[in-house]
Amino acid sequence: MPKAMLAETAQRVQRAMAWMRAPEFLVFLPAITLAGFWIGGEKMLILLAVGLPLLFAIIGQPLLAGQIGQGEEGSAVTRALALMDAILPLAAETGRTTACLVVQFDDLQAVLERHGRSALTEVITRATDRIRGALRVGDCVVNLQGGSVAVVLAPVRRLDLETMIQMGARLQEAVTAPIALGGAQLYITCSIGFCIGGRAPEPTGRSMLDAAQTASDEALRHGPAAIRAFSLDMAQKRAERDALRDSLEEALDKGDIRPHFQPQISTDTGEISGFEALARWNHPVRGCLTPSEFLPAVEGSDLSERLGEVMLFHALSALVGWDREGLKVPSVSVNFSSAELRNPRLPERIKWELDRFELKPDRLTIEILETVVASAENDVVVSNIAQLAGMGCGVDLDDFGTGHASIATIRRFAVRRLKIDRSFVTRVDQDREQQKMVSAIVSLAERLGLDTLAEGVETAAEHAMLSQLGCGHVQGYGFARPMPLDIATDWARRHANRQDRIPRIGARR
Ligand code: C2E
Ligand code: CA
Ligand code: CA
Repeated sequence: MPKAMLAETAQRVQRAMAWMRAPEFLVFLPAITLAGFWIGGEKMLILLAVGLPLLFAIIGQPLLAGQIGQGEEGSAVTRALALMDAILPLAAETGRTTACLVVQFDDLQAVLERHGRSALTEVITRATDRIRGALRVGDCVVNLQGGSVAVVLAPVRRLDLETMIQMGARLQEAVTAPIALGGAQLYITCSIGFCIGGRAPEPTGRSMLDAAQTASDEALRHGPAAIRAFSLDMAQKRAERDALRDSLEEALDKGDIRPHFQPQISTDTGEISGFEALARWNHPVRGCLTPSEFLPAVEGSDLSERLGEVMLFHALSALVGWDREGLKVPSVSVNFSSAELRNPRLPERIKWELDRFELKPDRLTIEILETVVASAENDVVVSNIAQLAGMGCGVDLDDFGTGHASIATIRRFAVRRLKIDRSFVTRVDQDREQQKMVSAIVSLAERLGLDTLAEGVETAAEHAMLSQLGCGHVQGYGFARPMPLDIATDWARRHANRQDRIPRIGARR
C-alpha cells in the first residue's frame, strides 16, 4: 500500500477510534446491531456480538479507564500496551505519536504506617482520579501493582521534552492538593518518569512501559516530586544495578561487603575519638565499590537490614579487637538507613549484639541523616531513636546543615553530636561565609549542650580553623581515608605513638 494511502487509512481509523471512544457511541449500539442483522443476517449478528466487545477491549480502554479497579490490573495493562502497539507503528505516517508516563507516589509506606491499608487504597484511588481529571479525554490511565499509575496518551501531533515536563508538573500539581481523609488532611507528592514514542529501546507498548517505569524509578530515587525522561543510558545503569542487586545477597553471605574505617579526632586532645564504619564491597570483577555504587541496589531490595547487621557485626568486632590490643578507641560509628530505622526490632537487635560482644552501649554511635530525622513522622523511627539514646548509644546527626531539622526535633531525638556537613567545611580556612556557617552551627550546638564533628576535613589549615571555631571533633582525608580493618588498626597504633610526640594544632576555645 502506498505511504499516502496508509496515512489516510490510519487517520480514518483514528477518527473512528475517537468517535467510538465517545460515550454517545453507546446510544447507537442497538441501531448498529439491527442494521447488521438486516444486511448480513445471523452471521453478521454473531460477528457484531463477538467483534464489538473485542474492539472495545483494544481501543475502548479510555472509556473504561474510569472503572478499572486494582484487581483488574493485568487486563488493564494489556489494553494499555495494545493501545501503544497500535499507535507506534503508524507514527511515521500519521505524524502522531504517544507517550507513556509512570507516576509513583512518594513515601506511600508512611501513609500505610500512619493511616492503614484502607486509607492507602483510598489515597491511591483519589490521586488516580485527579490524574485522570488532569488529562484529556482519550488518554488512558491504568493502576499498576504497588500503587503506581501508568498513563498512555492518545495520539498527539507534537510531543517534545518540554511538553512532557509541563504535563508531568501538571499531574504533580493535581496530586499535591490535600486529600481529606477521616477528618485529617493528607499531603502526598509523586515522582514521574516518562518515555516519548520512538525513544524506547523497541517500538512496542511493553518496551515503552518498561522505559517509563525505569525513568519513574530514577525519579523516585531523586524525589520527592522529581520528573525524569527515559534515556538509553538510564536503561544501561538500571541493568548494572539489577545485576548488582542479584549478586548482593551472595556478597553479603560471602563476607565481600565489609566496613572500612575512618578515624575521628578530638580537636581538644588530638586523640582518636572514634572510627566511622563505611561500607565497601570487594567485588570479584569490579574491585572495591563505594556505597554510591551499590547502596541504590540495596535500597531497592529487602537487604537493607542484612547490610545493617553485617556492618554492625564487623564494627563491634573491630572495637573488641582494638580493646584487646590496648588501643584507645572510645567508640565506633555506624550509619543507619531510614529503612532500618523503621524496623521496630532494631533496638532489641542492637542490644543483643552489644551484649554478645560484652560492650557498653556508649561504645556505639548511631549515625542518622539529618534529613531522616527532619522528616521522621513515623512513630517507629521516633521510638527507635529514643530507645537507642535511652540505652546510652550516641546519636550523631549526619550531614548536618543540609536537612532542615528543627531545634525541637534535635531535642526530641536526644542527639549527642551534630556532624557538620562537608559542604560547610571545604575551604573553611579561606572563606568567611563558611566560617560564619560553622560558627553558627557550633554556637547552636553549644546552646543545646551538644558536641560537634566536622566531616570532610582535607587540609591542616581547615583543621586549624575548625579548632579555632570551637568544633569538637574532625574527620576527613586530611587525617586518613576510610581504611580496611588491618590498615586502620596500624594507623591507630601509629597515631597513638605520634600523639606522644607531635604538638597539637590549635586548641578548642
Ligand atoms: P557519610 O556518612 O556522610 O560518609 C562520609 C563520606 O565522605 C564517606 O563516603 C567518606 O569516604 C567520604 N569522606 C570522608 N572524608 C572525606 C574528605 O575529606 N573528602 C571527601 N571528599 N570525602 C570524604 P563513602 O564511604 O563513599 O560513603 C558515602 C555515604 O554512604 C555515607 O555518607 C553514608 O551516608 C553512606 N553509607 C556508608 N556506609 C553505609 C552503611 O553501612 N549503611 C548505610 N545505610 N549507609 C552507608
Ligand atoms: Ca556518616
Ligand atoms: Ca556525612
